[in-house]
Amino acid sequence: MKINLAKSAGFCFGVRKAITTALETAKTKDPVFMLGDIVHNEEVVRQIQNAGIKKINSLRRSKNKTLLIRAHGCSKKTLKRALKLGYRIIDATCPMVKEIHRIACKLENGGNQVIIIGDKRHDEVQGIVGQLKNPVIVIDYPRNIPLGKIKKIARAGIVVQSTQKLDNVLEILETLRKHIPRIAFHNTICNPTRMKQDEIKAMPLENSVMIIIGSKTSANTKRIFEISKSLNKKSYWVSSAKEIKKMWLNNAESVGVTAGASTPESSIKEVIAKLKAIGPA
Ligand code: SF4
Repeated sequence: MKINLAKSAGFCFGVRKAITTALETAKTKDPVFMLGDIVHNEEVVRQIQNAGIKKINSLRRSKNKTLLIRAHGCSKKTLKRALKLGYRIIDATCPMVKEIHRIACKLENGGNQVIIIGDKRHDEVQGIVGQLKNPVIVIDYPRNIPLGKIKKIARAGIVVQSTQKLDNVLEILETLRKHIPRIAFHNTICNPTRMKQDEIKAMPLENSVMIIIGSKTSANTKRIFEISKSLNKKSYWVSSAKEIKKMWLNNAESVGVTAGASTPESSIKEVIAKLKAIGPA
């Protein structure tokens, strides 16, 4: 059984940078905290916690404490509150997410109704919403487009959550174009996501089985899996090697392996080792 590993499998540069920043910050003598998980992967979060960084769910008054802002970014309100409470801020927000913040603010200042194509519960989307003064419309799927609101908009500025599926975005955009006279559209899907999505459009057709590695909380892993599954029914999403079942590989000539942007190298290596151990069916 041949094992084909995707070139884009695993950490994107944004996640790599956030982890490096976190581990560097952990070396300082002052206590370091992160609000929520630095990236959506349990193993990475464990590694960061083992380095001494504590996860908190709310901000408290603090002296000589450092707050690490995660790769997905945060709202202006959270940042302001943290500074007011006395935290020293280390910002590990991915530069690509910061760019979305910049574009969204520019669109709003230019008099546009800002629309975000993305998942409204995702931290990155909440961070983008939290940069803006006016109410924002967030749309995740074409079936959830709020047509009543959309029809009243004269000018819209649209940005996209960095890990969105391009086909979904284009479908939403097509409907919006029918109802909004002026649209400034910015495709802010990040380059690492585009590369992953390009690869995942080919690999499921070239392999008997697909294994996608990543945490069940990872949005970009979910989208990679969705694309893979739509092209090859034998696509499986695992968070670790332990979840792989031998029967998935029955009669498989080749298995394609890829991993979400927050999946560590160690998880990929474990999966490859397990597949090698299972060997030919
Ligand atoms: S997936 Fe894209 S936006 Fe998100 S951290 Fe990675 S490079 Fe940055």
